[in-house]
Amino acid sequence: SVSGADKMNGRLGGLVNPWNGRMYSQRYMDILEKRKTLPVWQQKYEFLQVLKNNQTLILVGETGSGKTTQIPQFVVEAVELENHPGKSRKNKMMVACTQPRRVAAMSVSRRVAEEMDVTIGEEVGYSIRFEDCTSAKTVLKYLTDGMLLREAMTDPLLENYKVIILDEAHERTLETDVLFGLLKQVLKNRPDLKLVVMSATLEAEKFQAYFSGAPLIKVPGRLHPVEIFYTKDPERDYLEAAIRTVVQIHECEGPGDILVFLTGEEEIEDACRKITREIGNLQGEQVGPVKVVPLYSTLPPVMQQKIFDAAPPPLTEGGPPGRKIVVSSNIAETSLTIDGIVYVIDPGFAKQKVYNPRERVESLLVSPISRASALQRSGRAGRTQPGKCFRLYTEGSFNNDLQPQTYPEILRSNLANTVLTLKKLGINDLVHFDVMDPPAPETLMRALEELNYLGALDDEGNLTKLGEIMAEFPLDPQMSKMLVVSPSFNCSNEILSIAAMLSAPNCFVRPREAQKDADEAKARFSHIDGDHLTLLNVYHAYKQNNEDPSWCSDNFLNARALKSADNVRKQLMRIMTRFNLKLCSTKFNSRDYYINIRKAMLSGYFMQVAHLERTGHYLTVKDNQEVHLHPSNCLDYKPEWVFYNEYMLTSSNFIRTVTDVREWLVDIAPHYYDLENFPECEAKRVLERLYRAREG
Ligand code: ADP
Ligand code: MG
Repeated sequence: SVSGADKMNGRLGGLVNPWNGRMYSQRYMDILEKRKTLPVWQQKYEFLQVLKNNQTLILVGETGSGKTTQIPQFVVEAVELENHPGKSRKNKMMVACTQPRRVAAMSVSRRVAEEMDVTIGEEVGYSIRFEDCTSAKTVLKYLTDGMLLREAMTDPLLENYKVIILDEAHERTLETDVLFGLLKQVLKNRPDLKLVVMSATLEAEKFQAYFSGAPLIKVPGRLHPVEIFYTKDPERDYLEAAIRTVVQIHECEGPGDILVFLTGEEEIEDACRKITREIGNLQGEQVGPVKVVPLYSTLPPVMQQKIFDAAPPPLTEGGPPGRKIVVSSNIAETSLTIDGIVYVIDPGFAKQKVYNPRERVESLLVSPISRASALQRSGRAGRTQPGKCFRLYTEGSFNNDLQPQTYPEILRSNLANTVLTLKKLGINDLVHFDVMDPPAPETLMRALEELNYLGALDDEGNLTKLGEIMAEFPLDPQMSKMLVVSPSFNCSNEILSIAAMLSAPNCFVRPREAQKDADEAKARFSHIDGDHLTLLNVYHAYKQNNEDPSWCSDNFLNARALKSADNVRKQLMRIMTRFNLKLCSTKFNSRDYYINIRKAMLSGYFMQVAHLERTGHYLTVKDNQEVHLHPSNCLDYKPEWVFYNEYMLTSSNFIRTVTDVREWLVDIAPHYYDLENFPECEAKRVLERLYRAREG
């Protein structure tokens, strides 16, 4: 027990870990020494004092100052002092620390478990969508902001927690912004609850104003100077320019690791291959060895850990030094701090969410970053010594083209899911819900309208029975709807598999050197009616082959993605069972087997339909946006109507993951395909004929 361990500490000179009564490892001691040098340790006492005397406080500190890893441990210590040893675990309350990114929640909690010398999942745990790594012992929980929001649905006053830390507040994700508003209310009803808001940049005044003058603690930065270089002319191909810059640095600059910011998984993996190849080609010349490591959100945890490995040693004693080259998405901007970076390459782009309520399109778009982001990125070069940042754009562009701050996500998102969550939380008056930056009224209207079409809200905007259940699924409303209605189409088993496959990372592998083989392998799974049923085929084959990883690689399938899909499926199934939603299938040899599945899917996705025009291209229904089938689709013809899972805003607009649907539209969603509020277009005339044919 804690008191027993304390006694032993007295005897053995503080070598026993009070959390588990075990002797502290040497590694613990080593890390502790390093931890104590982090800037936040200078203000540990001040922080605990301010926390004691206030319900809410704001802490601002440079990335890498120890906010995420150290502050929650300080808080846990303080909370444990108050928790009387006699009190049972059950009544003890936890400390929560939110992270906008799954990777950060996982990686940081592992690190903190190591720092506390406990096993991950026991005293320190994490919770992210579809993965709960906590236990009854957990006192410190890292979780995504989205997960905390979901917890509020069943625990409206967040009574499992004594202190909530909202980390990375400067990121202003949709979920964090909603949590701000929610916590403001909860704090009024829970005088014993405390809130710590942590941020990397100085938007602190805004947070202070919002939390009515909460005290602010500033942790002074300890950055070394970073020299900034711009390109003389704009770069045509930033990827190619980034790779070229890496090679140049490696050949010409002094020791130190390199961090390259790119936008997404594919691009990052591609860049890693090219960098390895090009530096390999330099052999014979006087260059050191390199270790190239990718970092992005869907990377498996073992691989994530590699960013913290040391650079390789020189090949020969006294030879040119080895270098670690991290190629990362935005995660490395503020969420994860990598020590030893001396060179940063910033092409100036990131994948960002955009939403246009008029066209109802939400999409991830590679777009220019803000000046604030650019400053954060360059800061990563000066953690341990003076560094250099290479911006692959012109100085004029930095000053004139980049906007000063990134817009909060709440202003560029489809809010249907958020509105459903808020309704479920009992917040009905959305207009007066106190958010830091209120979304456009049009965006709110769109969200209410979509939820009404889906049947989640009635005409007065109240949550329906269907909406209540839909809100329980950690999915988009469309997908939740298709799951909830699937038993009535006698295909909930299959819809579960499809929903799981759509929620997991892409399962198809397409290596550049074996594209043809990969496409042939994919074609063997393909279903004539479209991509969703192809995914179902893959899932079935995966199960039939006993989830065998070597079968997966033989078939150009990503075993990890499929395993994750299988896990997601189990969790979704649990929610289905909890709400007595029947698990059933149509007989496989029935003519209706696939038709039922397609109809169930359409019940969720009837607002994401496109019609093939006589001119040969598709127009989205009602909004009449010209779109193209994404080249990855498995159809060998162009169906008249398709529904799609994803709208990709690029130079030409693609719809991705599509399935052929028929005139079922008018049966399944007559309220949406009601011709009275339908714009004049070819689709309308086709529907008119359909309706007439049915009457006659
Ligand atoms: P902040 O939240 O203020 O940006 P962090 O608490 O994330 O700072 O980081 C503090 C220090 O901990 C940094 O030096 C970082 O490199 C180190 N660190 C974090 N995670 C790991 C890890 N998994 N392995 C090694 N060092 C880590
Ligand atoms: Mg942090």
